Amino acid sequence: MTELQEATVVSQAVDGSAEAVYAFARQMENLPLWASGLAKGIAQRDGDWFADSPMGQVKVTMAPVNPFGVLDHEVTLPDGTRVHNAFRVTPCGDGSLLTFIVLRSAGTSQQSFDSDVAHVRRDLMSLKQVIEQPKFSARSKTQDISAFALPAPDIAPWRAGNTGVEGVWRFDAGTPGRHVMITALVHGNELCGAWALKGLLEAGVRPRRGTLTLALCNLAAFDRFDAANHDASRFVDEDLNRQWSPERLAQPVTLERRRAAEIEPFVREADWLLDLHSMHERGLPLTLSGLRPENIELAVRMKAAEHIVVDAGHKDGIRMRDHGRFGNADGMAAGARSLLVECGFHGDLSSRDVAQDQCLRFLLASDIVDEADLLGGAHGALPAWRLPDAAEPWILDVTAGVVARDESVEFVRPFKGLEVIPQAGTVIGMNGGEAIVTPYDDCVLVMPSLRQARAGVTVVRFAHRRRSVGATSPIAGIG
Ligand SMILES: [Zn+2]
Repeated sequence: MTELQEATVVSQAVDGSAEAVYAFARQMENLPLWASGLAKGIAQRDGDWFADSPMGQVKVTMAPVNPFGVLDHEVTLPDGTRVHNAFRVTPCGDGSLLTFIVLRSAGTSQQSFDSDVAHVRRDLMSLKQVIEQPKFSARSKTQDISAFALPAPDIAPWRAGNTGVEGVWRFDAGTPGRHVMITALVHGNELCGAWALKGLLEAGVRPRRGTLTLALCNLAAFDRFDAANHDASRFVDEDLNRQWSPERLAQPVTLERRRAAEIEPFVREADWLLDLHSMHERGLPLTLSGLRPENIELAVRMKAAEHIVVDAGHKDGIRMRDHGRFGNADGMAAGARSLLVECGFHGDLSSRDVAQDQCLRFLLASDIVDEADLLGGAHGALPAWRLPDAAEPWILDVTAGVVARDESVEFVRPFKGLEVIPQAGTVIGMNGGEAIVTPYDDCVLVMPSLRQARAGVTVVRFAHRRRSVGATSPIAGIG
């Protein structure tokens, strides 16, 4: 017999009856939700259960059904070694108590034992949190977003542009003023911005000072738009909004890189850029300001949206709104500003209303038009574009993003976004066998979405929130 050096009982109280906890915890299919070593999933074969673990494929055998809450299970490692895990749930008042015995055998280092204990403690905490969530089995993936109400705009009359570059229009006042650019359809299924630009073109809006450029960006992707499968028209070859580094712009190997290179001279010349987008999920509009305080100040001054997300962009490529002078302090000092607005769910009519209102606010703030030009009635529909000002804005400093390890990533309940999770360490989901926990108190969840979840895709961002523009020091970018 192996000599026992030390034993520890890890315990965890749970707000749930022992019967309910037992029934949940002994379901092999539920193990990946809380047992981090088995997080990659578990499957039955010839009556036995097998899971992929960090040590390779392991066999898991659960104690037979019993009335005592005994959840002992045996894990057989690839080399045949069998590890017995002594685990049970005991009734305790209205709730229950989980207990797990961790043994330290001869030859096991203190460090390795401590790590085992911490591992078990974390798993039991995950089980508790999964049990205590009222709808622990609900998945955002099944959320009904089938209603795609916003029709695709007919942009045929505005497709040619007047610059020699398809979809790009430029109007020059012939007097000094800012060069303002508004872009839409950077993602082919994000229709709201196309509606707004079509509206500006139909209304004949022209700058009084400076220059106005309007660009319908990924026309090839938009041409494939199908409301029944709208994600498929986000792009053709790759995401147009990740191609804005000099290296990628110089390599015309995909449709999107070639398109980015066509549009780039206009972006480079713009002083102010407003890039209109929409979201995979229903949610309040968000202004993405980037890290520069000058952009945050502009977003606050526009009085919409109510939530301003301060983020560093994507690791997998530079966005248009961070290209060139928009991405550095010198550009900002010289007057460059860029905002990206997520106007709401792709298919909601309200996303069009938000995009139109954003155009008004941006044009007025830029001072290339006079208020009477847009709202005085001369431009038909435009006065109706004005929405009420948003409430005093929250500025959300994104500190980290959660990147899916595989497509099994899930949340403990559906999140709409902008939820404020009061306590640090709250489990909000599972990712490749690890609990997704909030890193600090009053953590805001930004753009949670499992709809495109697969390895490498960001499924939620964490943010601190504040009311004042002030100084900012976000720790990390969006993944
Ligand atoms: Zn987008």
